Amino acid sequence: MTVPLRVPMYEHGKLYQLQKQEIDDAVRRVIEKGVFDWGEEVAAFEEEFAAWNGVEHAVSVNSGTAAIKIALLAAGVGRGDEVITVPNTDISSSSGIRHTGADVVWVDVEPLSRTMDTQALRRAITPRTKAILPVDLFGHPANMTEIMEIARQHGLIVIEDACLALGATIDGHKVGGFATATCFSFAPKKHLGSYGSGGAILTRDAALAERMQKLAAYGQSRERHRDNTAVAGNTGLYLEEEGSNEQLDELQAAILRIKLSGFAENLRTRRNQAARYDQALQNLTLDLPSCREGVEHAWRNYVVERDDRDPVRQYLSDNGVQTNLSYAPPMHLQPVYRFMNKGENSLPVAERSCSRLFGLPIGPHIGDEQLEHVVQTLHDFFGSR
Ligand SMILES: *Cc1c(COP(=O)(O)O)cnc(C)c1O
Repeated sequence: MTVPLRVPMYEHGKLYQLQKQEIDDAVRRVIEKGVFDWGEEVAAFEEEFAAWNGVEHAVSVNSGTAAIKIALLAAGVGRGDEVITVPNTDISSSSGIRHTGADVVWVDVEPLSRTMDTQALRRAITPRTKAILPVDLFGHPANMTEIMEIARQHGLIVIEDACLALGATIDGHKVGGFATATCFSFAPKKHLGSYGSGGAILTRDAALAERMQKLAAYGQSRERHRDNTAVAGNTGLYLEEEGSNEQLDELQAAILRIKLSGFAENLRTRRNQAARYDQALQNLTLDLPSCREGVEHAWRNYVVERDDRDPVRQYLSDNGVQTNLSYAPPMHLQPVYRFMNKGENSLPVAERSCSRLFGLPIGPHIGDEQLEHVVQTLHDFFGSR
Protein backbone atom coordinates (compact mmCIF):
# COMPACT_ATOMS: atom_id res chain seq x y z
CA MET A 1 0.00 0.00 0.00
CA THR A 2 1.40 3.40 -0.89
CA VAL A 3 1.23 6.23 1.63
CA PRO A 4 -0.60 9.19 0.08
CA LEU A 5 1.65 12.22 -0.40
CA ARG A 6 1.18 15.04 2.04
CA VAL A 7 2.20 18.59 1.15
CA PRO A 8 2.08 20.89 4.19
CA MET A 9 2.42 24.68 4.06
CA TYR A 10 5.18 24.57 6.71
CA GLU A 11 7.39 21.87 8.21
CA HIS A 12 9.86 23.34 10.69
CA GLY A 13 11.35 19.96 11.68
CA LYS A 14 12.39 19.26 8.11
CA LEU A 15 14.09 22.65 7.76
CA TYR A 16 15.98 21.98 11.00
CA GLN A 17 17.38 18.74 9.53
CA LEU A 18 18.92 20.76 6.65
CA GLN A 19 21.21 22.68 9.07
CA LYS A 20 21.00 20.49 12.20
CA GLN A 21 24.68 20.30 13.12
CA GLU A 22 25.31 24.02 12.79
CA ILE A 23 22.17 24.94 14.72
CA ASP A 24 22.91 22.46 17.51
CA ASP A 25 26.43 23.90 17.82
CA ALA A 26 25.17 27.49 17.89
CA VAL A 27 22.53 26.79 20.54
CA ARG A 28 25.04 24.92 22.71
CA ARG A 29 27.57 27.77 22.30
CA VAL A 30 25.08 30.33 23.62
CA ILE A 31 23.80 28.22 26.51
CA GLU A 32 27.28 27.20 27.66
CA LYS A 33 28.42 30.81 27.52
CA GLY A 34 25.42 31.79 29.61
CA VAL A 35 24.77 35.16 27.97
CA PHE A 36 21.17 35.49 26.80
CA ASP A 37 20.71 39.25 26.42
CA TRP A 38 22.85 42.27 25.50
CA GLY A 39 25.33 39.86 23.91
CA GLU A 40 27.58 39.29 20.95
CA GLU A 41 25.24 37.10 18.89
CA VAL A 42 22.73 39.92 18.48
CA ALA A 43 25.45 42.38 17.46
CA ALA A 44 26.94 39.88 15.00
CA PHE A 45 23.55 39.04 13.51
CA GLU A 46 22.74 42.72 13.02
CA GLU A 47 26.04 43.25 11.22
CA GLU A 48 25.54 40.20 9.00
CA PHE A 49 21.90 41.05 8.25
CA ALA A 50 22.80 44.63 7.29
CA ALA A 51 25.64 43.39 5.06
CA TRP A 52 23.44 40.73 3.41
CA ASN A 53 20.99 43.47 2.46
CA GLY A 54 23.62 46.06 1.54
CA VAL A 55 22.26 48.61 4.04
CA GLU A 56 24.35 50.41 6.68
CA HIS A 57 22.36 49.73 9.86
CA ALA A 58 20.24 46.87 11.18
CA VAL A 59 18.45 47.00 14.53
CA SER A 60 17.09 43.67 15.73
CA VAL A 61 13.86 43.44 17.73
CA ASN A 62 11.68 40.58 18.96
CA SER A 63 8.98 40.59 16.23
CA GLY A 64 7.89 42.17 12.97
CA THR A 65 5.10 43.83 14.92
CA ALA A 66 7.66 45.48 17.23
CA ALA A 67 9.76 46.49 14.20
CA ILE A 68 6.87 48.44 12.67
CA LYS A 69 5.85 50.20 15.87
CA ILE A 70 9.41 51.09 16.86
CA ALA A 71 10.31 52.38 13.38
CA LEU A 72 7.24 54.64 13.42
CA LEU A 73 7.96 55.91 16.94
CA ALA A 74 11.65 56.51 16.22
CA ALA A 75 10.76 58.44 13.07
CA GLY A 76 8.61 60.76 15.19
CA VAL A 77 5.12 59.57 14.26
CA GLY A 78 2.58 60.27 16.99
CA ARG A 79 -0.70 61.86 18.05
CA GLY A 80 -2.30 64.11 15.45
CA ASP A 81 -0.47 62.47 12.54
CA GLU A 82 -1.98 60.37 9.76
CA VAL A 83 -0.18 57.37 8.32
CA ILE A 84 -1.29 55.87 5.01
CA THR A 85 -1.21 52.08 4.66
CA VAL A 86 -3.12 49.19 3.05
CA PRO A 87 -5.78 46.90 4.57
CA ASN A 88 -4.91 43.52 3.00
CA THR A 89 -2.18 42.47 5.41
CA ASP A 90 -1.32 41.56 8.98
CA ILE A 91 -2.81 43.75 11.71
CA SER A 92 0.73 44.96 12.63
CA SER A 93 0.77 47.86 10.17
CA SER A 94 -2.57 49.28 11.30
CA SER A 95 -2.07 48.51 15.01
CA GLY A 96 1.52 49.78 14.90
CA ILE A 97 0.31 53.13 13.58
CA ARG A 98 -2.43 53.39 16.20
CA HIS A 99 -0.12 52.36 19.04
CA THR A 100 1.96 55.48 18.32
CA GLY A 101 -1.20 57.57 18.78
CA ALA A 102 -1.47 58.38 15.06
CA ASP A 103 -4.49 57.69 12.83
CA VAL A 104 -4.62 55.00 10.16
CA VAL A 105 -5.65 55.93 6.62
CA TRP A 106 -6.19 52.89 4.39
CA VAL A 107 -5.88 53.09 0.63
CA ASP A 108 -6.66 50.42 -1.95
CA VAL A 109 -4.14 48.24 -3.79
CA GLU A 110 -3.22 47.52 -7.41
CA PRO A 111 -4.95 44.36 -8.66
CA LEU A 112 -1.86 42.54 -9.96
CA SER A 113 0.76 43.01 -7.24
CA ARG A 114 -1.86 43.56 -4.49
CA THR A 115 0.41 46.34 -3.11
CA MET A 116 -0.38 50.02 -2.49
CA ASP A 117 -2.09 51.82 -5.39
CA THR A 118 0.04 54.94 -5.86
CA GLN A 119 -2.81 56.97 -7.39
CA ALA A 120 -4.93 56.24 -4.32
CA LEU A 121 -1.93 57.18 -2.17
CA ARG A 122 -1.65 60.61 -3.84
CA ARG A 123 -5.35 61.26 -3.28
CA ALA A 124 -5.15 60.30 0.42
CA ILE A 125 -2.40 62.79 1.36
CA THR A 126 -3.63 65.61 3.65
CA PRO A 127 -1.81 68.31 5.66
CA ARG A 128 -1.81 65.83 8.59
CA THR A 129 -0.08 63.02 6.67
CA LYS A 130 3.26 62.24 8.29
CA ALA A 131 4.24 58.85 6.88
CA ILE A 132 3.49 56.17 4.29
CA LEU A 133 3.57 52.49 5.29
CA PRO A 134 3.54 50.31 2.16
CA VAL A 135 3.52 46.50 2.45
CA ASP A 136 5.50 44.14 0.21
CA LEU A 137 2.72 41.58 0.11
CA PHE A 138 3.63 37.88 -0.15
CA GLY A 139 7.20 38.85 -1.15
CA HIS A 140 6.29 41.22 -4.01
CA PRO A 141 7.69 44.70 -3.26
CA ALA A 142 5.41 47.71 -3.24
CA ASN A 143 6.13 50.29 -5.95
CA MET A 144 8.94 51.83 -3.90
CA THR A 145 10.37 53.93 -6.74
CA GLU A 146 7.14 55.83 -7.13
CA ILE A 147 6.28 55.87 -3.41
CA MET A 148 9.68 57.40 -2.55
CA GLU A 149 9.14 60.06 -5.22
CA ILE A 150 5.71 60.93 -3.78
CA ALA A 151 7.23 61.01 -0.28
CA ARG A 152 9.95 63.41 -1.46
CA GLN A 153 7.39 65.72 -3.06
CA HIS A 154 5.37 65.92 0.16
CA GLY A 155 8.16 65.66 2.75
CA LEU A 156 6.90 62.34 4.16
CA ILE A 157 8.60 59.49 6.01
CA VAL A 158 8.34 55.99 4.51
CA ILE A 159 8.30 52.91 6.75
CA GLU A 160 8.21 49.81 4.55
CA ASP A 161 6.76 46.53 5.80
CA ALA A 162 9.01 43.95 4.14
CA CYS A 163 8.15 41.18 6.62
CA LEU A 164 7.41 38.88 3.67
CA ALA A 165 9.95 40.25 1.22
CA LEU A 166 13.47 39.60 2.48
CA GLY A 167 15.58 39.14 -0.66
CA ALA A 168 13.12 40.71 -3.10
CA THR A 169 14.60 43.26 -5.50
CA ILE A 170 13.47 46.23 -7.60
CA ASP A 171 15.68 46.96 -10.64
CA GLY A 172 18.36 44.81 -9.02
CA HIS A 173 18.26 46.64 -5.65
CA LYS A 174 17.20 44.72 -2.57
CA VAL A 175 14.28 46.00 -0.49
CA GLY A 176 15.69 47.66 2.61
CA GLY A 177 17.59 50.35 0.74
CA PHE A 178 14.61 52.42 -0.40
CA ALA A 179 12.56 53.56 2.60
CA THR A 180 13.43 55.65 5.66
CA ALA A 181 13.26 52.33 7.54
CA THR A 182 12.33 48.82 6.39
CA CYS A 183 10.82 46.21 8.73
CA PHE A 184 11.32 42.44 8.71
CA SER A 185 9.84 39.54 10.68
CA PHE A 186 11.56 36.31 11.71
CA ALA A 187 8.41 34.60 12.97
CA PRO A 188 8.87 30.82 12.57
CA LYS A 189 6.70 30.71 9.43
CA LYS A 190 8.48 33.56 7.65
CA HIS A 191 11.01 32.53 5.00
CA LEU A 192 13.84 33.47 7.39
CA GLY A 193 12.28 31.95 10.48
CA SER A 194 13.58 31.89 14.05
CA TYR A 195 12.73 29.28 16.68
CA GLY A 196 10.50 31.70 18.56
CA SER A 197 10.01 35.26 17.51
CA GLY A 198 12.17 37.95 15.97
CA GLY A 199 12.36 40.96 13.71
CA ALA A 200 14.68 43.64 12.40
CA ILE A 201 14.69 47.14 10.96
CA LEU A 202 17.08 48.34 8.26
CA THR A 203 17.99 51.98 7.75
CA ARG A 204 20.72 54.11 6.20
CA ASP A 205 20.26 56.72 8.96
CA ALA A 206 22.68 56.20 11.88
CA ALA A 207 20.78 58.47 14.28
CA LEU A 208 17.48 56.74 13.52
CA ALA A 209 19.12 53.34 14.07
CA GLU A 210 20.43 54.42 17.46
CA ARG A 211 17.03 55.71 18.51
CA MET A 212 15.34 52.47 17.42
CA GLN A 213 17.88 50.43 19.39
CA LYS A 214 17.19 52.45 22.52
CA LEU A 215 13.40 52.31 22.10
CA ALA A 216 13.58 48.50 21.92
CA ALA A 217 15.86 48.26 24.98
CA TYR A 218 14.34 50.17 27.91
CA GLY A 219 15.61 53.47 26.48
CA GLN A 220 19.23 52.56 27.04
CA SER A 221 22.06 52.50 24.52
CA ARG A 222 24.26 49.40 24.23
CA GLU A 223 27.33 51.42 25.21
CA ARG A 224 25.70 52.72 28.37
CA HIS A 225 24.55 49.23 29.23
CA ARG A 226 28.12 47.92 28.94
CA ASP A 227 29.34 50.72 31.22
CA ASN A 228 26.62 49.98 33.75
CA THR A 229 27.54 46.35 34.04
CA ALA A 230 31.28 46.92 34.33
CA VAL A 231 32.62 46.05 37.80
CA ALA A 232 34.43 49.33 38.20
CA GLY A 233 33.34 52.76 37.07
CA ASN A 234 29.65 51.97 37.17
CA THR A 235 27.89 55.04 35.86
CA GLY A 236 24.38 53.93 36.79
CA LEU A 237 21.30 54.00 34.64
CA TYR A 238 21.19 56.56 31.86
CA LEU A 239 17.79 56.53 30.12
CA GLU A 240 17.39 58.67 27.02
CA GLU A 241 14.10 57.31 25.64
CA GLU A 242 10.88 55.96 27.11
CA GLY A 243 11.73 52.50 25.82
CA SER A 244 10.02 49.14 25.88
CA ASN A 245 11.66 45.72 26.12
CA GLU A 246 11.43 44.32 22.61
CA GLN A 247 14.95 43.11 21.95
CA LEU A 248 15.94 40.02 20.01
CA ASP A 249 17.46 37.39 22.31
CA GLU A 250 20.87 35.75 21.93
CA LEU A 251 19.53 32.27 21.14
CA GLN A 252 17.36 33.51 18.28
CA ALA A 253 20.22 35.66 16.97
CA ALA A 254 22.58 32.66 16.95
CA ILE A 255 20.01 30.52 15.11
CA LEU A 256 19.21 33.31 12.66
CA ARG A 257 22.91 33.72 11.82
CA ILE A 258 22.98 30.07 10.69
CA LYS A 259 19.73 30.40 8.76
CA LEU A 260 20.90 33.61 7.07
CA SER A 261 23.99 31.77 5.82
CA GLY A 262 21.68 29.36 3.97
CA PHE A 263 19.15 31.94 2.89
CA ALA A 264 20.35 32.48 -0.68
CA GLU A 265 19.74 28.77 -1.32
CA ASN A 266 16.28 29.04 0.30
CA LEU A 267 15.41 31.91 -2.10
CA ARG A 268 16.72 29.99 -5.12
CA THR A 269 14.52 27.00 -4.24
CA ARG A 270 11.47 29.26 -3.89
CA ARG A 271 12.14 30.97 -7.22
CA ASN A 272 12.49 27.63 -9.00
CA GLN A 273 9.28 26.33 -7.42
CA ALA A 274 7.38 29.50 -8.36
CA ALA A 275 8.65 29.22 -11.94
CA ARG A 276 7.46 25.61 -12.06
CA TYR A 277 3.98 26.60 -10.78
CA ASP A 278 3.85 29.51 -13.28
CA GLN A 279 4.60 27.18 -16.15
CA ALA A 280 2.54 24.18 -15.07
CA LEU A 281 -0.61 26.02 -13.97
CA GLN A 282 -0.87 28.65 -16.71
CA ASN A 283 -3.71 26.98 -18.62
CA LEU A 284 -5.98 26.41 -15.63
CA THR A 285 -8.81 28.81 -14.75
CA LEU A 286 -6.79 30.17 -11.86
CA ASP A 287 -5.29 33.67 -11.62
CA LEU A 288 -1.57 33.20 -11.02
CA PRO A 289 0.61 35.80 -9.26
CA SER A 290 2.41 38.26 -11.50
CA CYS A 291 5.32 40.64 -11.03
CA ARG A 292 5.59 44.35 -11.80
CA GLU A 293 8.34 45.07 -14.33
CA GLY A 294 11.82 45.11 -12.77
CA VAL A 295 10.72 43.14 -9.69
CA GLU A 296 12.30 39.95 -8.45
CA HIS A 297 9.83 38.33 -6.05
CA ALA A 298 10.93 36.72 -2.75
CA TRP A 299 8.18 34.06 -3.02
CA ARG A 300 7.44 33.77 0.70
CA ASN A 301 3.95 32.89 -0.57
CA TYR A 302 2.64 31.65 -3.91
CA VAL A 303 -0.90 33.03 -3.88
CA VAL A 304 -3.46 32.30 -6.58
CA GLU A 305 -6.98 33.66 -6.97
CA ARG A 306 -10.28 32.19 -8.11
CA ASP A 307 -13.93 33.27 -7.73
CA ASP A 308 -15.14 30.02 -6.21
CA ARG A 309 -12.12 28.97 -4.17
CA ASP A 310 -13.71 26.56 -1.67
CA PRO A 311 -14.21 23.54 -3.98
CA VAL A 312 -10.61 23.61 -5.22
CA ARG A 313 -9.24 24.08 -1.68
CA GLN A 314 -11.37 21.16 -0.50
CA TYR A 315 -10.17 18.95 -3.36
CA LEU A 316 -6.53 19.81 -2.61
CA SER A 317 -7.09 19.11 1.08
CA ASP A 318 -8.73 15.74 0.30
CA ASN A 319 -5.58 14.87 -1.63
CA GLY A 320 -3.12 15.82 1.11
CA VAL A 321 -2.31 19.34 -0.12
CA GLN A 322 -2.62 22.08 2.46
CA THR A 323 -3.51 25.64 1.39
CA ASN A 324 -4.07 28.79 3.45
CA LEU A 325 -5.78 32.16 3.45
CA SER A 326 -3.20 34.82 4.19
CA TYR A 327 -4.79 38.01 5.45
CA ALA A 328 -8.46 37.63 4.72
CA PRO A 329 -10.79 39.36 5.36
CA PRO A 330 -8.96 42.73 5.14
CA MET A 331 -8.37 44.91 8.22
CA HIS A 332 -11.15 47.42 7.54
CA LEU A 333 -13.73 44.61 7.75
CA GLN A 334 -12.37 43.19 11.04
CA PRO A 335 -14.43 43.69 14.22
CA VAL A 336 -11.57 45.60 15.88
CA TYR A 337 -11.74 48.36 13.25
CA ARG A 338 -15.54 48.62 12.97
CA PHE A 339 -15.31 52.04 14.63
CA MET A 340 -13.55 53.36 11.53
CA ASN A 341 -16.84 52.99 9.61
CA LYS A 342 -15.22 51.58 6.48
CA GLY A 343 -17.83 49.18 5.21
CA GLU A 344 -17.86 46.74 2.33
CA ASN A 345 -16.99 48.17 -1.10
CA SER A 346 -14.93 50.97 0.44
CA LEU A 347 -11.66 49.35 -0.72
CA PRO A 348 -12.93 47.09 -3.51
CA VAL A 349 -9.68 45.84 -5.04
CA ALA A 350 -8.33 44.62 -1.69
CA GLU A 351 -11.71 43.13 -0.77
CA ARG A 352 -12.00 41.24 -4.06
CA SER A 353 -8.46 39.86 -3.73
CA CYS A 354 -9.00 38.76 -0.11
CA SER A 355 -12.21 36.97 -1.05
CA ARG A 356 -10.61 35.04 -3.93
CA LEU A 357 -7.04 34.28 -2.81
CA PHE A 358 -5.45 31.16 -1.40
CA GLY A 359 -1.82 30.14 -0.96
CA LEU A 360 -0.19 26.99 -2.34
CA PRO A 361 2.68 25.24 -0.52
CA ILE A 362 6.13 26.62 -1.37
CA GLY A 363 9.55 26.53 0.25
CA PRO A 364 12.61 24.36 0.90
CA HIS A 365 10.62 21.89 3.02
CA ILE A 366 8.92 20.70 -0.17
CA GLY A 367 10.58 18.25 -2.52
CA ASP A 368 10.11 17.94 -6.29
CA GLU A 369 7.76 14.99 -5.92
CA GLN A 370 5.54 16.96 -3.55
CA LEU A 371 5.47 20.00 -5.83
CA GLU A 372 4.46 17.79 -8.77
CA HIS A 373 1.72 16.31 -6.59
CA VAL A 374 0.28 19.81 -6.09
CA VAL A 375 0.44 20.46 -9.85
CA GLN A 376 -1.14 17.08 -10.69
CA THR A 377 -3.90 17.49 -8.11
CA LEU A 378 -4.83 20.89 -9.55
CA HIS A 379 -4.87 19.43 -13.07
CA ASP A 380 -7.08 16.58 -11.86
CA PHE A 381 -9.49 19.04 -10.27
CA PHE A 382 -9.85 21.18 -13.36
CA GLY A 383 -9.74 18.22 -15.75
CA SER A 384 -12.73 16.65 -14.06
CA ARG A 385 -14.85 19.74 -14.63
C1 LIG B 1 4.34 38.46 9.82
C2 LIG B 1 4.04 39.83 9.40
C3 LIG B 1 4.05 40.88 10.32
C4 LIG B 1 4.24 40.69 11.79
O1 LIG B 1 5.41 40.01 12.12
P1 LIG B 1 5.48 39.23 13.54
O2 LIG B 1 6.91 38.83 13.63
O3 LIG B 1 4.55 38.06 13.43
O4 LIG B 1 5.08 40.15 14.60
C5 LIG B 1 3.81 42.15 9.82
N1 LIG B 1 3.55 42.37 8.54
C6 LIG B 1 3.52 41.38 7.63
C7 LIG B 1 3.25 41.69 6.20
C8 LIG B 1 3.75 40.07 8.04
O5 LIG B 1 3.71 39.10 7.15
